[in-house]
Amino acid sequence: MVYKKIIMHADMDAFYASVEQRDRPKLKGKPVIVGGSSARGVVSAASYEARKFGVHSAISVAEARKLCPEGYFLRGDMKKYRKESKKIFEIFRKYSPAIEGISLDEAFLDLTGTERLLGLPSKIGESIRRDIREKRDLAVSVGVGPTKLIAKIASGLAKPDGLLEVPVHGIKDFLEPLSVAQLWGVGPVAQERLKALGMNTIGDLASADLEMIRSCLGVWGVEVSALARGEDAREVCAYRDPVSMSEENTFEVDISDLQTLSNAIRVHSEAVARRLRASNFVAKTVILKLKLSNRVRSGPRGYPTFTRRKTLKETTNDGALISRETNLLLNEYSLSKPVRLIGVGVTNLSVESEKQINLFGAPDTENRAEHLNKALDMINVKYGENAVIRGGKTLSKDSLSSQVKIGEDDI
Ligand SMILES: [Mg+2]
Repeated sequence: MVYKKIIMHADMDAFYASVEQRDRPKLKGKPVIVGGSSARGVVSAASYEARKFGVHSAISVAEARKLCPEGYFLRGDMKKYRKESKKIFEIFRKYSPAIEGISLDEAFLDLTGTERLLGLPSKIGESIRRDIREKRDLAVSVGVGPTKLIAKIASGLAKPDGLLEVPVHGIKDFLEPLSVAQLWGVGPVAQERLKALGMNTIGDLASADLEMIRSCLGVWGVEVSALARGEDAREVCAYRDPVSMSEENTFEVDISDLQTLSNAIRVHSEAVARRLRASNFVAKTVILKLKLSNRVRSGPRGYPTFTRRKTLKETTNDGALISRETNLLLNEYSLSKPVRLIGVGVTNLSVESEKQINLFGAPDTENRAEHLNKALDMINVKYGENAVIRGGKTLSKDSLSSQVKIGEDDI
């Protein structure tokens, strides 16, 4: 493979926790854990001080409390993190027009051809890091390499608060000793299968017979084998539309009462609809997500999870409609066990202007819904989310749950 690109991966360190430490000086140097406030929440971010106790994201708050009883546990503030993210991306944009945001705190930048203007890639990386430190008082780690995968692995190894550049001639030495888990898509199951064949490192994979990898991982093995050899032609996609948006919550206690579930659906539907309108999208498919209380395996994924979806006749960004359709999905689903988590999502998204125009003029009811939604959005912008919720009920959300997925159609 001929390497023609220079790609940077920038990833904020312990993003939510670092923002909180910056904004509340008494938390500086302390173990800060952002996640749900109850024992059932999941950790969204842990400061490096908390990681020393073995706390990391995706473990339960209950487990985190056991590992780090002196930790500062915070619920977090998604709105604040989204605002912060915007400011950070404005800084990224000064360095390259080709930026692919992966999440609120992580992006790929294509630096190909910027050397003449901005200097060597490592110099650019250092000045982005300085810029973010000076303007936002936050740490970002940066990886630079000839492919997206290499840049991404490098930023991970540069953490915390570091920079690592992998030149083309260094690719082989860089990749070989790393665990296969560093490769995109190689999760615990694939890892076990590879281990059974004696393949633990990327170097093992790179030198293995392709047929053997294929027999172990299926057709996807071809791609994994190429990645292991440093071949990754994926480009930095400057903009990708989100494919889904969702909101969910874990209940303090398991719920069987349909009215409570229905209320939760309504609150989530309004939040999803608000986000659709704020980003000018409409959705055609609604998704109900349920996690039941009967644990079947250990670990955070041990609860049986179901999704049900329905594609509507017309696209929508109306919370009342999303709520009605999702509630119908709930009613059609025969609940066998109490519910631990409930979520509402939308997918099949398109830009609002593409919404089909009704030739005979919109019926009055739709006009009314649109006007009401606009008024609600203005109130929410002015007085904060959940200032007004139709139907009176508000839901106290227990964990950070706003999700925008880019690149996979699932919630
Ligand atoms: Mg990060």
